[in-house]
Amino acid sequence: MAGQLGGVPILVLGAGSERIRGRDAQSANINAAKAVADAVRTTLGPKGMDKMLVGAMGDVVITNDGATILKEMEIESPAAKMIVEVAKTVDSVAGDGTTTSVVIGGELLKKAEDLLEQQLHPTVVILGYNLAAEKAREVLAEISSDIDVENEEELKKVARTSITGKFAESSREFLSEIAMQAVKNIAETGHGGARVVDIDNICVEKKVGGRIEDTELVQGIAIDKEVVHPGMPTKVEDAKVALVSASLEVKKTETSAELKITTSDQLKGFLDEEEHELKAMAERIKESGANVVICQKGIDDLVQHYLAKYGIMAVRRSKKSDMDRLAKATGGNVVTTLEELSKSDLGYAGLVDERKMGGDKMLFIEECKNPHAVSIVLRGGSEQVVDEIERVLHDMLMVVASILEDGKAVAGGGAVETELALRIREYGASLKGREQLAVEKFAEALDIIPRTLAENAGLDPIDMLVALKAAHERGEKNAGLNVYTGKVVDMWQAGVIEPLRTKKQSVESATEAATMILKIDDVIASTRASPPPPEGMPPGAGGMGGMPGGMMPY
Ligand code: ADP
Ligand code: MG
Repeated sequence: MAGQLGGVPILVLGAGSERIRGRDAQSANINAAKAVADAVRTTLGPKGMDKMLVGAMGDVVITNDGATILKEMEIESPAAKMIVEVAKTVDSVAGDGTTTSVVIGGELLKKAEDLLEQQLHPTVVILGYNLAAEKAREVLAEISSDIDVENEEELKKVARTSITGKFAESSREFLSEIAMQAVKNIAETGHGGARVVDIDNICVEKKVGGRIEDTELVQGIAIDKEVVHPGMPTKVEDAKVALVSASLEVKKTETSAELKITTSDQLKGFLDEEEHELKAMAERIKESGANVVICQKGIDDLVQHYLAKYGIMAVRRSKKSDMDRLAKATGGNVVTTLEELSKSDLGYAGLVDERKMGGDKMLFIEECKNPHAVSIVLRGGSEQVVDEIERVLHDMLMVVASILEDGKAVAGGGAVETELALRIREYGASLKGREQLAVEKFAEALDIIPRTLAENAGLDPIDMLVALKAAHERGEKNAGLNVYTGKVVDMWQAGVIEPLRTKKQSVESATEAATMILKIDDVIASTRASPPPPEGMPPGAGGMGGMPGGMMPY
């Protein structure tokens, strides 16, 4: 049976297994999405466990970062892929809160199933969920509190709450300090005095070896390169930096050419010519006034020799991304040919210094023209440790940035979800229609966060939920779960705080994913090969990255 849909021919493959409709389609989609949520649930919170993801090539990733786990899992079901897309959105918008959004999304679908079984139409469930989400936004804004962004301790608390992995307390404290300082450094004042933070301005370099505490915040740019020639200075103050993307070598002829040299004079002439050309390159750099050259390609030995003679420091084969960062930081231009290079293209740095980092040397370009350029050189005992710190740091930088920009936070440890559930339940009771049932289920679904935090910490989830609810009913809006002692405490006072933006995004994305999946009542195999995703929509089938060989197909 062939059909036409929006001008695109589709093939409906009979009534067999390639097409499922109605309740069957909904159940299949809901189950797939729930399975994804279950896969990451055990990682939630400070007592969450890690996942070891093993690729077909034997490569290992150890993490408890929800977004990373979902990215690395090979997922077949289109509905499950929608959940993964949600995690990716939360990761890019808020940085943190990915596991939370996926877990809430899964629970919303689970509760929706109860409603569908009671013969509630999916559109009514969707309506109720959307009403509840709207209410959640309102309540979140209301219960959030201001953070004094000048107070570094407050900013560090937010950073610390976002590290829920395996790191020791001392490392968490240390990394929070680095993240807070880095973000403060790059914060700029935008229109109308608002703070803006673009964390892309923070350059993160990984260097395996040493301890986590050897991680360094550099006021400037750190690049994983060393000075090319032993005769060159390894420290230049008052640096004028030439950024060259061309190679400083004589071009080899593309096709094999035969050169007929019959006399020794001819040979000398030929070599002289080449030497002359190379020397001219070094001279050209010297004339521009540069005393440091960062080259994206290779530098011929002879050019190195002359540069060393002129006292110019040089680095070769620098990454394109580093070239762009250096241009931004030093205020210089990357030139594509040496002929273009003039004084006005040079960037400025107070100090360019080659230093030892672990066993290797790295180049530090400090006191740059742009004071907002900072780098973090990550250290740790193994590649897995350094990679996980990088993921943790990404979350920390994002949450500190959110707080600096918005100045609003909520209490973590299940406090905010319990308060939301309470208020949404009250709101549900005020509604007349059948959507009231869906609003109530939405409130129930939010309990999954404190419940999971308790479960992952080995605490009794029922006792904990009862105690939490009682505290909130007494008006303690910040009452949450101390997962170490099993007591209900004021999370704000305990310093467990999260940006309002993160929570808002988690709840919104979870609702979006759940309602999107509920709207589907027909799954049809289409002959189109991996269509490009429409703007703003998850790509559904196809185009999803994952390790070859697959680990956890759903
Ligand atoms: P996500 O990917 O959603 O950020 P996490 O594994 O980072 O998932 O867990 C976040 C949850 O852990 C949040 O609900 C947060 O409030 C909670 N949390 C963080 N630190 C603590 C703590 N010290 N005590 C209790 N809960 C905490
Ligand atoms: Mg987190």
